[in-house]
This record gives sequence, C-alpha cells and structure tokens, in this order.
Amino acid sequence: MDKIKYFINVLWNNIWHFIVALIMAFLTIFFFLMIFVAIFEDHSMSEFLVMLVVTAVSALITWLFINSWFLKPYRCPSCLRNFALKGCGIEEVGNEQSIGNETSTSYVNTKADTNTVFGSVDVRVPVTQTNTVAYNQKVYQRNYVCRFCGEECYKTFKGDKTRA
Ligand SMILES: [Zn+2]
Repeated sequence: MDKIKYFINVLWNNIWHFIVALIMAFLTIFFFLMIFVAIFEDHSMSEFLVMLVVTAVSALITWLFINSWFLKPYRCPSCLRNFALKGCGIEEVGNEQSIGNETSTSYVNTKADTNTVFGSVDVRVPVTQTNTVAYNQKVYQRNYVCRFCGEECYKTFKGDKTRA
C-alpha cells in the first residue's frame, strides 16, 4: 500500500510540476515577445531594458524549476548525465518509531435534573482524553541504476504512520 501511495505521489508531483513549468515557459516566451513589441511599437530604451530583465529572470526561474524537478532527480551522481537513473525496485529497509499525542472523545451517560414534571433525563456528556501513542513508520529504499555507467544509488522514503 505504501508503495502504491508513493507512486501516486510521484505521479501527482510530476503532473503539477509539469503544469507550473509549462506556465513559466509560456510566460518566458510571452516576455520575450514583449521585447520585440517594446522595440517596434514604443522605441523607448527603458521599456526594452525592463522587458529584457523580466525575460531573463523568468527564463532563469523556468530553468531552475526544470533542473530541480525533471533533471536532477534522474541525474547520475557519478557520471552526471541527465535522464540516466532507472528505477530498479523498492525494498523495505527499516522502521522509524515516533511518539505522538492522540485525542479521543468518548461519551458518558449521566442524569440531569430538568426541574420539571419530567424529572431527570439521561444526558450524553462528551469526555475528551489525550493519550501518548507510539507510531511506527516503515522506511523504504528505492534503488536506481545508471543506464550509462552502471552506478547504483538509492533514495529513501517513508510510509504511512501506523500505531505501534
Ligand atoms: Zn552514470
């Protein structure tokens, strides 16, 4: 289950990273075109320079996004080639224990006097309790191998917290 969640998480991250990178790329192209608009329509040097700086900054941000989201995770740490790492299995490597507080609410029946002809009635009173609970989290290791130089590496991730 943890592995399925991990893959859904990776897929979801890739989707929204892709959308953000696409928007940034479109903005960069838009700013780049605005440079020409500034040249041909306005003839003012200051607007041209502003658009130039905005385009450069936007291109830089787009590049940083693409690098950290799509290139770096699949770059071989040994030969530094891009799109080199190929996933080759996930294994369980250990457990991590942690302590947390868990609050629970239980109900206690008590009698409450209505001060009327009906006498007393049963009332359910909520009682909140806080307990210290130990949690267990499985630690997984995803193995990768470089398709160019054969270097092996791994990344770790954690599964869901469960009660110990
Ligand atoms: Zn390599």
